[in-house]
Amino acid sequence: MDYNLLAELLLPDIDKTPDCYENLYPDRGLKEGARVTRFAPSPTGYLHLGGLFGALTDILTAKATDGVSMLRIEDTDKKREIGEGVSAILDGFSAFGLSFDEGVSADGEKGKYGPYTQSQRVEIYQTVAKQLIREGKAYPCFCTADELTALRERQEKEGAPFGGYYGKWAKCRDLSFDEIKKNIDEGKPWVLRFRSDGDENKKVFFDDIIRGKIEMPENVIDEVLLKSDGIPTYHFAHVCDDHFMRTTHVIRGEEWISSTPKHIALFKACGYRLPKYAHTPQVMKIDEEDGTKRKLSKRKDPEAAVSYFVETGFPKEALIEYLMTLINSNFEDWRRANKDADVFSFPFNLKKMSSSGCLFDMAKLNDISKNIISVMSADTVYQRVTEWAKQYDEELYNLFTKDPEKARAILNIDRENPKPRKDIAKWSEVKDYVSYMYNELYEEYLCLPENIKSEDARKIINEYRKVVDFSDDKQVWFDKIKALCIPLGFTPNVKEYKQNPDAFKGHVGDVSTVIRVALTGRTNTPDMHAIIGILGNDEVQRRLESAEFSV
Ligand code: GLU
Repeated sequence: MDYNLLAELLLPDIDKTPDCYENLYPDRGLKEGARVTRFAPSPTGYLHLGGLFGALTDILTAKATDGVSMLRIEDTDKKREIGEGVSAILDGFSAFGLSFDEGVSADGEKGKYGPYTQSQRVEIYQTVAKQLIREGKAYPCFCTADELTALRERQEKEGAPFGGYYGKWAKCRDLSFDEIKKNIDEGKPWVLRFRSDGDENKKVFFDDIIRGKIEMPENVIDEVLLKSDGIPTYHFAHVCDDHFMRTTHVIRGEEWISSTPKHIALFKACGYRLPKYAHTPQVMKIDEEDGTKRKLSKRKDPEAAVSYFVETGFPKEALIEYLMTLINSNFEDWRRANKDADVFSFPFNLKKMSSSGCLFDMAKLNDISKNIISVMSADTVYQRVTEWAKQYDEELYNLFTKDPEKARAILNIDRENPKPRKDIAKWSEVKDYVSYMYNELYEEYLCLPENIKSEDARKIINEYRKVVDFSDDKQVWFDKIKALCIPLGFTPNVKEYKQNPDAFKGHVGDVSTVIRVALTGRTNTPDMHAIIGILGNDEVQRRLESAEFSV
């Protein structure tokens, strides 16, 4: 068969050769060891937490080696694509401060190896495909969907070792030129298939950076390269793109391991150097119901979507910091030694990534986030909360922006000191945290600790009303509370109480708790002296009076 003639028959509009792209996308000339990575999502839904994890791995790998990271949009599956798919991906990255050196971005494309959206690269794929046809390495297949179904059934019945289009089952593999031409003239749709020369009895090896040496049977399947609309499959696009974008390290989800022999065969057929592969583990969680370890699920777990962390208001640095602990087990040691360093300066090492699934642990994320928020200034917290509330909580936004000074003062209680409180893990918790400071939010609900009788509480509140003054300094304020103790049968001395509990109704801590409950409805709050200072005398008197009659 004259393969040149076949190539012209199948792809007459393609007038370039792959050399043209070799010249257009030259070697990057980066320094020795610099890694070129790409994150390559399909715009088929929201950005998954695993996607953020993968993208972080790509960016860190490039940064740690002075390399280049790219964002490539893999939109060849138009059936699965959703309208806002690309912006969902870009919004997700921008919300968490991730950016790539090259590729698709909110401000358009950047970089010299584009276009970075696969649907705009069809000419490149077809040019490579045409070359493969010329070399007898690809052929058109006219089998219909029904014929392929029938093939699978026959393979099952006749005990084929595995299903698929290959060897003796590949009906169109050996069509003559005339047969092909006749089909084309008749307008029969066709796909372009790879003519595999693999041997199922032979093994192919590759070194996965995360998993080590992997051995699998060679690919024998005549995989589809171009679909009937001329658009490539993932397999073929991966090979062409990662070659011409000069990717050195393909870091992708472990679900692609089984396809790697196919990709190796295609790289070889095209005469391209194989990139290094690293297959990242899945993000898993422990199922709340049955305690088993399972993949994060779109359906069951709201936290599978990156947008969940935006909507609930986790600070971006908290989620990233947490993902870093999953990504490399030595991250936490590094962080202890480099407390203020930018997370992206972490000397990330793909080899230190675990190959088993990373376990997503919300409690740990909460802890990390509380730590991060606890050391932010009140001003920063104010800004971040209002920014979040503007979109997600109008009531809080209005309260905070109506009186920024008050909001900042509340947020500053027990902050900016060596042992800040760690109450807030995410911005959606702030409303509850500050609720008793705003009458618009405060619902008086007085629940005393069990050891305190209502009549004692009433007396404490009544006496305290007589002496409270919001302008007292902290020492005077506390001395006044202590002074209430003895006349009411309590002791200002906790030690004394512990030694002789039967002699007292309680100690100064109990007296403070009663006042705290009366003022805030809670037994646990930040510094009460500061709370009183912000509420002011009138509001304090009003609340104490109301409490006196309702405890
Ligand atoms: N578009 C593929 C996916 O979303 C990318 C896989 C790869 O990184 O090569 O799974």
